[in-house]
Amino acid sequence: MVADTRGRGLTDLRISLIDQCNLRCTYCMPAEIFGPDYRFLKRTEWLRFGELYDLVRAFTRLGVRKVRLTGGEPLLRPGLAKFIRGLRRFEAIEDLALTTNGLRLAERAGELAEAGLHRVTVSLDALDPELNGRMNGRGIGPEVVLAGIEGARSAGLAVKVNMLVERGVNEGEILPMARLFRDKGIPLRFIEFMDTGNHNGWRMDRVVTGREILALLATEHAFEPIDTTSSRMVAKRYRYTDGSAEFGLITSVSQPFCGDCTRARISADGQLFTCLFATRGTDLKGFLRSEEYSPEALYEKLAARWRVRDDRYSEIRTSATPKGEKVEMSFIGG
Ligand code: SAM
Ligand code: SF4
Ligand code: SF4
Repeated sequence: MVADTRGRGLTDLRISLIDQCNLRCTYCMPAEIFGPDYRFLKRTEWLRFGELYDLVRAFTRLGVRKVRLTGGEPLLRPGLAKFIRGLRRFEAIEDLALTTNGLRLAERAGELAEAGLHRVTVSLDALDPELNGRMNGRGIGPEVVLAGIEGARSAGLAVKVNMLVERGVNEGEILPMARLFRDKGIPLRFIEFMDTGNHNGWRMDRVVTGREILALLATEHAFEPIDTTSSRMVAKRYRYTDGSAEFGLITSVSQPFCGDCTRARISADGQLFTCLFATRGTDLKGFLRSEEYSPEALYEKLAARWRVRDDRYSEIRTSATPKGEKVEMSFIGG
C-alpha cells in the first residue's frame, strides 16, 4: 500500500460528479455568490464516466476500498445509476456510498439501490421548516428530505444523516434532530462548521464544538462511546444505552483528525485534491487525455503524488489563519 510523508495510506476516494446544486446552503453555496451569473463547469468539462473508471481502477490498486459519490448534488448528474452499475466490476470496492441533500432521493432510491449503491448519507440541518428553508437558501422545508430518507430505507439502502451545526443559527435543532433520528434508529452525525471555501463567513466563534454538542445531548439522553480505535473512522461514535440508535460527531475543527486522513478527492473537472482545504489540485483530466496516458503511468502518477502528501490543515488552523483561496466545498464535495 502507498503511504504519504506521515505514513498515511490511501483507503477512501471521494468523487465529485457535478459542481452544480439545487440548493444554496448558506454555509456552502451562499446565493449571493452562487447566483445566476456564477460560472459552473460546462458538461464538456466534466470527467467522463470512462475516465472515472480508469481512475477508480488505479486508485483501488493503491489501496482504496471505499468510494463516495458527491458534489454539488450528485443526483443531478445525468447517467448516475448507469455509472454506479459500472462500478460493480471493481471487486476491491467494499463500500459504495453517496452523499445527497435528499431532494430527489424519494424517487431515485430504488434505481440507485438496484444499480449497486450500498448506502446514502443525507444532509439535513433543521426540522423547523422556516429555519431549514433559510439554511438551504431555497425555502424548502424538511418534509421532502424526510421522505427521501424513508424512500432510501425502503429501497434497502443503509442511511445516515449529516447535520451541520452553526452557532447562532441551528444549535436549537440539536435535541429535536437527536430525538427524531433516535426514534427512527438512524445514525445522526453532527458536523462542526468548517472554514471550507471562501464565501461562507466562517469564524471560530460560529463553531459549536463536539464537546458542547455532547453536553447538550447528555441533558436528555444516556449514551456511551463506541470503541473505534481499530478502525480509521473520522467520526467519534456513540450509542444510546437502550440500544435504539447511534450518533456521531465530526469534530474537524475542535479535535482534528488529519493523522488518520486517508482520503483523496477528485473534483468534477478531474483534479486530484489531497486535502479539503487545498488551494490547488493536480490535473488528471489533461493527463488522461494526453498521449502519455496508460494505466501504468496513471498508477505511477497517483502514487508519486500521494507519497509527497503532507497535508494537515486542520491541525495547524488558528483563528488567524490567513484567508487564502481555497477550493469550494461544492466543487470537491465534503
Ligand atoms: N449536496 C450534497 C449534500 O449536501 O449532502 C453533497 C455535497 S455537500 C458539499 C457534502 C456535505 O458537506 C454536506 O453534508 C454538508 O453539510 C457539508 N458541508 C458543506 N459546507 C460545509 C461547511 N462549511 N462545514 C462543514 N460541512 C459542510
Ligand atoms: Fe448543495 Fe450540498 Fe452544498 Fe447544500 S451542502 S449547497 S446541498 S452541495
Ligand atoms: Fe484531511 Fe486536510 Fe481535513 Fe486534515 S484538513 S483531515 S488532511 S482533509
